[in-house]
Amino acid sequence: SKSFWREQVKKLDAYIPGKSIEETKKEYHLHKVIRLASNESPFGPSPKAIEAMKKEIQDGHLYPDSTCTTLRERLGELHGIDPGSYVVANGADNIINLLIASYVNPGDEVVYCTPTFSEYSKNTLLMGGTTVEVPTSDDFVFDLEMMLEAITEKTKLAIVCNPNNPTGTIVDEDKLRDFLNRLPGHVIPVLDEAYIEFVTHESYATGVEYIKEGFPVISIRTFSKLYGLAGMRVGYAVASEELIEPLLTVREPFACNRIAQAAAVAAIDDYEYIGKVLCENRREMTKMIEKLHSLGFEAEPTHTNFIFVNMKQDSSRLANNLLKKGFIIRPCAPWGYPEHARISIGTAAQNEHFFTVLEQIL
Ligand code: PMP
Repeated sequence: SKSFWREQVKKLDAYIPGKSIEETKKEYHLHKVIRLASNESPFGPSPKAIEAMKKEIQDGHLYPDSTCTTLRERLGELHGIDPGSYVVANGADNIINLLIASYVNPGDEVVYCTPTFSEYSKNTLLMGGTTVEVPTSDDFVFDLEMMLEAITEKTKLAIVCNPNNPTGTIVDEDKLRDFLNRLPGHVIPVLDEAYIEFVTHESYATGVEYIKEGFPVISIRTFSKLYGLAGMRVGYAVASEELIEPLLTVREPFACNRIAQAAAVAAIDDYEYIGKVLCENRREMTKMIEKLHSLGFEAEPTHTNFIFVNMKQDSSRLANNLLKKGFIIRPCAPWGYPEHARISIGTAAQNEHFFTVLEQIL
């Protein structure tokens, strides 16, 4: 009924993806703004991806390959899972839309922990579903036991954001396997692995491994983070063909544009770029955490390209003061953590500049 949908819409928090660089420049009359708020790669795209994008522009008058044939083939080689097991779309955000639109009907429940990525809640409510939010454990890790307890016969999806945004934590591998084994058959486990490439434990099992073992897992991946292509908008889901099929039906035919597809194909092979990002990210994370501690803040090493920091003060106010100086960070008050902020790891020069300014305003 009309009133049901009106109530659903009322529950929607406006999704605010943080201030843009352009907006901030205009509002504060700044020439230079550095964003350490959206977990982008600070290193620019891979030079190979830039070349591929330039070349692809020539064919801009033609629709892109709707089925993303080359990209799915390359993904097939990368993961060792058949090209028929992927759906590619306009960023992982779009994959979350497709996934929830495919599987969630009014009244269905979607279980996940909080704080986490806001899109699970928004899309569930838009489809008329019910969000079942379970707190993370004291160390900000997804509490899989509590998620299992929250499952009912109405549960459709159980989403584990691994590593989790905004906390940067990962779930214990044995606990995840146990969770997947104990999940009732009517619930589809979804692993949002937007940051999984930053997990450096050699043997840590990813969604891809679980899928190969036959678990009915849907893994969500993106080219926005490690691969440095956030502006191009390429994300994908990988799962059994049976689980992927509904997403292909819902997907708009040209969801991934031709420049984005070409960039992603080239980026997969640029091991030099990937190695550089991983190495710099780790080195800068260590330096940033040391610096954050020396300023009296609480911060732990993470499995991502951002840090969840307890700033021991109103982080929204601090973020606002930083904005005026040309730095964007993400205060965590909307997640219910008014003293925390999520700070993306920048280049050495950006981070140095950031701390100089931060120390001035503290
Ligand atoms: N999932 C998580 C956990 C994320 O943090 C993000 C990006 N902020 C996304 C999905 C969406 O990524 P994309 O840029 O591919 O839409």
